[in-house]
Amino acid sequence: MVLAQLGGSISRAIQQMSNATVIDEKVLNECLNEITRALLQADVQFKLVRDMQANIKKIVNLDDLAAGHNKRKIIQQAIFNELCKMLDPGKPSFTLKKGKPSVVMFVGLQGSGKTTTCTKYAYYHQKKGWKPALVCADTFRAGAFDQLKQNATKAKIPFYGSYMESDPVKIAVEGVERFKKENCDLIIVDTSGRHKQEAALFEEMRQVSEATNPDLVIFVMDSSIGQAAFDQAQAFKQSVSVGAVIVTKMDGHAKGGGALSAVAATKSPVIFIGTGEHMDEFEVFDVKPFVSRLLGMGDWSGFMDKIHEVVPMDQQPELLQKLSEGNFTLRIMYDQFQNILKMGPISQVFSMLPGFSAELMPKGREKESQAKIKRYMTMMDSMTDEELDSSNPKLMNESRMMRIARGSGRHVKEVNEMLEEYKRLAKVWSKMKGLKIPKKGQMSAL
Ligand code: GDP
Repeated sequence: MVLAQLGGSISRAIQQMSNATVIDEKVLNECLNEITRALLQADVQFKLVRDMQANIKKIVNLDDLAAGHNKRKIIQQAIFNELCKMLDPGKPSFTLKKGKPSVVMFVGLQGSGKTTTCTKYAYYHQKKGWKPALVCADTFRAGAFDQLKQNATKAKIPFYGSYMESDPVKIAVEGVERFKKENCDLIIVDTSGRHKQEAALFEEMRQVSEATNPDLVIFVMDSSIGQAAFDQAQAFKQSVSVGAVIVTKMDGHAKGGGALSAVAATKSPVIFIGTGEHMDEFEVFDVKPFVSRLLGMGDWSGFMDKIHEVVPMDQQPELLQKLSEGNFTLRIMYDQFQNILKMGPISQVFSMLPGFSAELMPKGREKESQAKIKRYMTMMDSMTDEELDSSNPKLMNESRMMRIARGSGRHVKEVNEMLEEYKRLAKVWSKMKGLKIPKKGQMSAL
């Protein structure tokens, strides 16, 4: 089951419970059983699921909740919190300091996406003003150095490795020393993911770690491995001190439950997720926004981050004000489209906005979606100020639609389609009315 399906099943279970006239023990149990089934299908460890169910029942004591209590809201909140707890090891992720040389060692099995992720991680930090460098300490796999070299060159990141040297510890130490001298502040060591003997791999990890003394060890796992994630993560954790997890291939048909198991095994937070093969298909992972997105609630803080990146500072308060007023006009939609086109990797931005994801922009069809947005914007360019600023759907009568179609050289059918899209979004956004848009890192759950 892909994560989106998991989220869908959970939100459906909550919705069904909400539709019940009276929320009693039976309704609550049905809802929790649905959620349990969905989590188990997503390959989340049985023990985690069982604990979660028990915790929710402990928190939501229906007998103690006096009439007038909003039971639905309390249950929703408990489910949200428990899902967050499963993904949050309870300790903050280790933070590296820009400007001071830090060594980050990547570990994970071959094929997990480790080499790709090393470059993505370097590239992400480079864009934020760090000076990263890559060291290839994988001497087992033929071609490992070439792959890292190719990726690093594409991203213009300095790299170090050797075709001749077979001792990974030696290469790792040389690379780290060299880049420390060159004042790089993020030295990333890619390691082997396979050996003839499994024990030898873990021994090698221990040695590389001992010799380079990394500030952070990141365990990279493929999201499709499901429950096997627990044992794999634990095996690495026993030989090196894993401090963070990156889950790759979240774009595929993975059973996302593995991520939860890896967190439980390493007691370390997931810090990024990989969402594609390209360098920028890489997202910061925050538990609360992730769970909120999983439940179809939109990811406000991720969205805010993107807004802060692209919308000029002086325009931000106005936009935020408009967003929280719930008065969603065509002009706001136009501004949103414009921002989205500016914000780059379009799929990432879309998936963060409530209502903007699957319908308007199915994954893998970014180009078509971009063209569609541009087409919508051309039609909106033929609208009057009154039309753009009104939130009265009745204003858009047939003669106005024909005028817009003529003015933009499109068909009336297309104008209608654009207006339907607007109505759909307006409905989603009207729920946001009065919402206090949280600052980065805060999330008003449900
Ligand atoms: P390594 O053996 O662990 O170093 O794995 P690689 O970095 O060579 O990756 C193995 C394969 O997974 C390559 O084809 C990558 O392009 C692909 N890959 C890595 N990360 C992702 C991801 O987030 N999404 C998808 N779809 N593919 C990925």
